[in-house]
Amino acid sequence: MIKTKLLSGKEVAASVYADLAGRIDRLSAAGVTPGLAAVLVGNDAASHVYVRNKTKKFAELGLNSETITLGGESAEEEIVQSINGLNSDDRFHGILVQLPLPKSVNASAVLESVDPRKDVDGFHPENVGRLSSGNPRSIPCTPKGVLRILNHYSIGTEGKHAVVVGRSNIVGRPMAMLLSAKSSDGNATVTVCHSRTDDLSTYTKQADIVIASAGSPGLITGKILKEGAVVIDVGINRVEDGSEKGYSLVGDVDADSVDGIAVALTPVPGGVGPMTIAMLVENTVEAAERSLHR
Ligand code: NDP
Repeated sequence: MIKTKLLSGKEVAASVYADLAGRIDRLSAAGVTPGLAAVLVGNDAASHVYVRNKTKKFAELGLNSETITLGGESAEEEIVQSINGLNSDDRFHGILVQLPLPKSVNASAVLESVDPRKDVDGFHPENVGRLSSGNPRSIPCTPKGVLRILNHYSIGTEGKHAVVVGRSNIVGRPMAMLLSAKSSDGNATVTVCHSRTDDLSTYTKQADIVIASAGSPGLITGKILKEGAVVIDVGINRVEDGSEKGYSLVGDVDADSVDGIAVALTPVPGGVGPMTIAMLVENTVEAAERSLHR
């Protein structure tokens, strides 16, 4: 029976922060403290937790961060106006707009109002285009973090078949682009599956690497995997339980059934989540470094 290794995102994130320390010191010597502005619209409880976790990490590292909170009824113009102010505020090298935005707001228009040089989430069309044409600036944090985990644990992608489950602009699509980028980290043959895929297992059973990013608890079981597959669980799903909190967070992978079949698995929590934050810090440091050369 295969021994399934747990790939610790916490461990990889710690090495990212250690690598960033010198760069942050050099910026500081040049009078620059990397700064992030997080724009949070509405009262979505999970979004508030995500933004708090991100800004907490910035504070821990001695970096600047500020959360701009707008009411759920805010008009698109009001949000864009606030972002315009941040675009010209030199304290902030990175701006993130926490998604999802209220349904009444055109999310594309809001994301396009972020100065692409400050777009540390990599969601602006200019940055999406740069990524797809092989000349990336800010790379979306979650898929970038997944590649970094693979790289840290010396899991090569060349010649491998990677199956990405999910095609969102935030995770699935950029993940597929990165895995097939013809780069040292991404050189796989990639299949993208989604909710309209007929018989997901046909594809996952052929996969050397499975990226589970569907937002569907328990979707990936051992039964639909090839022995020896590497499984990256991006999912973060709230499922009700009998606990005091009322819910627990689980991924898209049924970890028990995968044990002994997958050669490696990222846990939830402690897998991809910490890497998303580490990559946000890295992207903000990079944006601050670029600001010195403008
Ligand atoms: P979206 O809901 O935007 O996208 C989900 C994708 O999965 C869609 O493409 C959808 O298909 C597909 N999908 C849904 N159900 C199935 C299914 N049963 N079989 C195959 N494909 C399916 O979610 P996100 O991409 O934003 O996030 C995905 C998950 O990752 C969520 O659990 C989210 O919480 C988590 N996440 C975790 C992060 C982290 O840091 N660890 C960061 C960001 C997200 P279709 O396009 O047809 O609708």
